[in-house]
Amino acid sequence: MNCLQDDEVLDLPETPSRACLAGLLDGGGPDQRLFDAAEARLRRDIGPRVYLRGLVEISNRCRKNCFYCGLRRDCASVDRYTIPPEEILEALEGGYRLGLRSFLLQSGEMLGKDHIETVARLLRECSSVIPGSRMVLSLGELPPETYDMLREAGGDRYLLRIETSSPLLYRRYHPDDGVHSHRERLKALEYLRSSGWQTGTGVLIGLPEQSTEDLADDLLFMKGMDIDMIGMGPYIESPGTPMPELFEGIPAPGVRTLRTLRMIALARLMMPGINIAATTALQTITPDGLERGLMAGANVVMPNLTPSRYRENYDLYSGKTEVRDNPETMIAALRRRCGETGRKIIMEDPGDPLHFLRRMEKGVDR
Ligand code: SAH
Ligand code: SF4
Repeated sequence: MNCLQDDEVLDLPETPSRACLAGLLDGGGPDQRLFDAAEARLRRDIGPRVYLRGLVEISNRCRKNCFYCGLRRDCASVDRYTIPPEEILEALEGGYRLGLRSFLLQSGEMLGKDHIETVARLLRECSSVIPGSRMVLSLGELPPETYDMLREAGGDRYLLRIETSSPLLYRRYHPDDGVHSHRERLKALEYLRSSGWQTGTGVLIGLPEQSTEDLADDLLFMKGMDIDMIGMGPYIESPGTPMPELFEGIPAPGVRTLRTLRMIALARLMMPGINIAATTALQTITPDGLERGLMAGANVVMPNLTPSRYRENYDLYSGKTEVRDNPETMIAALRRRCGETGRKIIMEDPGDPLHFLRRMEKGVDR
């Protein structure tokens, strides 16, 4: 079903109905007008600015076993690493010298005290080594007191994708072993949102058996959570994972790409002041994913600063881009490519989401 006529896309309400969203996600609407409307909204509220967030994949060890992920616990072929703190700091400093002011530390999920304390120590050092930077964490589900401790140590933002807002689909893509619980993930996200973190979430797009109604629910879920940032991308097959064997009917790459772009555009129209990433997965599934993501309403790009000898072992899925580029070359290429879409990379600015700044101004934190 399509609720919009060709000339109506600009008037999409901030909370459209599920059926309207599903219709647009299915390609029932005029895609180009949808993308143009999202980009126009972005330019009006945020401007042509693109913010960079330097990514360091600090460890590929993980206690979880998500069926889709190449880092899952049971993937025996993965060469596991944890980067020593000095090397992480060196990578961050390198990015800082190039003008980055927002950094994402990501890893598999680990509850061990050593890992958490190492991250906390790193965060404390960052305040003097790379001053004025926003530290973003994506370390999975952790107990509330650990989130608090990391926040006190200097963490500013946390990214925890819900993966899918449907408990039913979540159960299908994760083992039923007591370690993977949709309810617990949701509770962790709610805690982050209520405890002062700039909070980001996101979903996997184009999973087998995932309908456009499910994706519509994901958008409504993210809107309802009043989040500050979204990082969402297409599902990409990962060799050695059980997902492709468990399910038939993974949508073709072109379908996953288009659904991702429509999700970005609809998220921008529904949540105008948030930061939305043109993710690595989008850039991997199609070579012009960066440009198309930006032109659909994304405003954040994440150059990978992980030292090259670790990078190829952070194999969430096959064909991850940028495995060999150095940060300087990568940023130069990003600058050129963003420029070609009429957008401008802003350096030496942490790029806080407008949505977060507004909620701080109002002093309301649900
Ligand atoms: N372990 C942490 C953070 C690292 S994983 C966590 O799970 O929260 C970061 C993201 O990679 C996941 O949230 C998931 O959405 C994405 N991912 C994993 N496998 C993927 C695949 N095969 N295709 C696309 N994205 C994938
Ligand atoms: Fe671990 Fe995250 Fe991969 Fe799941 S998605 S297996 S939690 S790294």
